[in-house]
Parts: sequence; structure tokens; C-alpha cells
Amino acid sequence: MSPPLWFSHPAAIGHVTGGGHPERPERMSAVTDALTRRGWLGYARRTAPPATDAQLTAVHSARYVQALRAMSAGGGGAFDPETPVGPGSWEAARRAAGGACAMVDALLGGEAPVAFCGVRPPGHHAAHDTTSGFCLLNSVAVAARHALDAHGLARVLVIDWDVHHGNGTNDIFRRSDAVLYASIHQGGMFPGTGPLLDVGSGPGTGFSINLPVPAGSDEDAWLSLLEWIVVPAAEEFRPQLVLVSAGFDAHRDDPLGGCLLDAASFAEMARHVRALGTRVGAPVGAVMEGGYALGALAESVIATMGALADDRPPRSVAPDFATSRAASVIGHHWGL
Ligand SMILES: [Zn+2]
Repeated sequence: MSPPLWFSHPAAIGHVTGGGHPERPERMSAVTDALTRRGWLGYARRTAPPATDAQLTAVHSARYVQALRAMSAGGGGAFDPETPVGPGSWEAARRAAGGACAMVDALLGGEAPVAFCGVRPPGHHAAHDTTSGFCLLNSVAVAARHALDAHGLARVLVIDWDVHHGNGTNDIFRRSDAVLYASIHQGGMFPGTGPLLDVGSGPGTGFSINLPVPAGSDEDAWLSLLEWIVVPAAEEFRPQLVLVSAGFDAHRDDPLGGCLLDAASFAEMARHVRALGTRVGAPVGAVMEGGYALGALAESVIATMGALADDRPPRSVAPDFATSRAASVIGHHWGL
């Protein structure tokens, strides 16, 4: 069996946000330092190439891509107050998106069954034509689109377990039945989108699964929604590729999120996703999103990568009340 793959590039450190910004270069060093101490968990390391303009403009407007590149080349600026752009930001962002595309190529080429992209900035808030919430280019959306366009796939599953709703990804594929977007996120916080009743629109109706949880939600609450809503819907969808927007800000130590997951909780979610991938015959690729407590982030990435690779069965939980309520909505579109 070929080893799992890790994609990254030193340019990730060059995206400097400054001023005590939580999405800081030290996030990347914390993860890579911890992985170095663990021998990279047996993952084979690959260099993330830059995304091509064609890959980026399949998701983002050409005008926005050019404006972002020019802003970075010109010394920096910002499209929104939370998301600074500096001289190294363009290279970091296009290596993040390009790494995710290279990961898709490797997974669909049969080089490995699982892979992880250790990248920053995060991407899932980035919209068609603007930055948002620390995100410049939507790496997972670009990778999903690349899988559909370059590899001719018909069905890609995106599971987003960042504590924030991935409004960018959700909006980009809102009307598509080729991408099933499933997000568990804390409701009542940034970006304020992703209510249970938002199930997509037009031909994409039913292909957005939004599962908000209240602040204080723990591992059992997250696992219940994953096991009893996301996984059965995904099995019916039969994805040819599974991408994970792997944010780690639902960790109990995270300064931005208000949930109560531990590093081991991300491992359990990863086991559910890996088991799903095995059952439907789809490779699994995770892309790092948020996570702002450095120690918790590093531990959670390690737990996730270990679980993706170790093939142990996931822990099953009983469906809770919130899951039954979600099933009453999502069950109109999928056999749960
Ligand atoms: Zn987040």
C-alpha cells in the first residue's frame, strides 16, 4: 500500500497578517514542527505547485484573481477588514489552491487513498469575487471544480468540519448537483450563514447540507450529525472523491470557536469519513482550514492524519435530538 500524501509549500509562512491576527504564520510552523517530531506519521511529502489561472478562474472571477495578484504584488492591502493581503499572500494562496489540485490529481491517479494539504491561508469563506474571513482563494472549491473539469468526475463530496460555515464553498456550488456540500458548524457566529433550511437551490436543491450546532456542542453532538445525517446522505450520493475542509477551530481551546471538541474528536470524524470513502470506493483528501490555538491545531492535525491513515473503525454514537430534527429536513432529499 502506498503511503498517504502530504502537500505543502514554504510560501505558506510568507502570508503575513500582522497585528496579532489569529490567522498567523506560526500556525503553519506549529503543525510542521509537530509533524517533524512524529516523523510525518509515515506520510510522503510533496511540494504544492501554484494553481494555474485556469484552475482559479473556474471558481473565482478573472477580475478578482487579477486584482488579488496585483494587490499582493503592489505591497498589500485588503478587500475586507478581516483579511489582510501582503506581498507573500498571493504565492501562499495560489500554492494552497494548487496543492489541493495536485492532491486531487494524486488521489484520482491512484497514488494514495488519503492525503492532507497543510496550507494557509484557509479558503472556505472565499467567494467568487472577494476575500472573506481570513480566506483569499477557495482551495477546496478550486480542487472540487478541478476534479469535475479535468478528471471528468460527476460527483464530489465536500465535508466541512471547520467551526465556521463555509459560506464561500456553499455559495460557489449552491446550484450544482455535482458537488454535495455538507457542513457542521456553530450557528450564531461568523459568517452568519448556513441554517438547516438552506439546502441549496435550483438543480442543487438537496445538495447543500447545513447542520448548525449551538455553542458548547461536544464530540457526541458533532459525531451524531456526521454519522446519522452526513454519512448516509453521502452514501446515497456515491461520491467519486471526498474532500474535507478540515478546520480545527471547534477544538475546546480555540479562541474563536465555542465548541468542545478535542484532538481525538477530529480523529473520530476522520475515521467516519475514511470509512465512508472506503465503502463508496472514493479517495479522501483533507485541506487545512481554521484552527487558532497553536497547540490544539497541531495536535488535531496529527490526530486527523493518523486516523485517516490507520483504518480503525469509527466510534458510533446514538442519534441525539438535534440529529432527529435535522433528519426531518435533510430526510426530504436523502434516505436517512
Ligand atoms: Zn473557522
